[in-house]
Amino acid sequence: MGYNVAIDGPAGAGKSTIAKLVAKEKGYIYVDTGAMYRGLAIHFLKKGINPEDTQAVADACEDADVSIGYEDGVQQVYLNGENITSGLRTEEVGNMASKTSAIPKVREKLLELQRSLAREKDVIMDGRDIGTNILPDADVKIYLTASVETRAMRRYNELKEKGEDCSLEEIARDIRERDERDMNRKTAPLKQADDAILIDSSNMTIPEVVARICSCCR
Ligand code: C5P
Repeated sequence: MGYNVAIDGPAGAGKSTIAKLVAKEKGYIYVDTGAMYRGLAIHFLKKGINPEDTQAVADACEDADVSIGYEDGVQQVYLNGENITSGLRTEEVGNMASKTSAIPKVREKLLELQRSLAREKDVIMDGRDIGTNILPDADVKIYLTASVETRAMRRYNELKEKGEDCSLEEIARDIRERDERDMNRKTAPLKQADDAILIDSSNMTIPEVVARICSCCR
């Protein structure tokens, strides 16, 4: 078993930014599980599947093979052998992932991939149900959150930097909807594990959050 650090929290809390930096500092492998749900979402989008049609989504899981690899330490996602990493982080893909991740078949499909990575390597894994469901015996569990306003503003700045046209109100609405879906779904909802350390990053800098997490890890 590797040394396992689980980071869960709502969309836009900064999990991936922070986890990557902690991974670098501590020599862990960073595993982005959201990217796996996004990988499957691309499969559903390509097939024109309606995310509300649970049966169609479950059926479509049958011919999807999601795997991950690393190039220069950066996680790559492969869908049926094709590297789809560059297409993962659009709003369309995020929305499809958010909706379909509530479907048990979708979660089942990715569970073993996530657990096997943690068995083999020292990892810091981010997601929604890592501390509660995927790695209940993780060595360190962090629940990283921030206010909706802070998360929306961070996402807005990120998109602006990329030159994408966006509205702060729309982003905030989207984040609220994702929180609602992630926290209230029946299967593996987002919630703080009993033994997780809560960090609210609303008024913290990135180095402060990284230092706080590193101080909890071996
Ligand atoms: O973290 P990210 O925004 O990339 O995740 C995309 C979507 O995948 C989330 O909105 C969430 O619904 C889902 N997800 C999940 N469980 C995880 C990781 C992500 O349900 N462990």
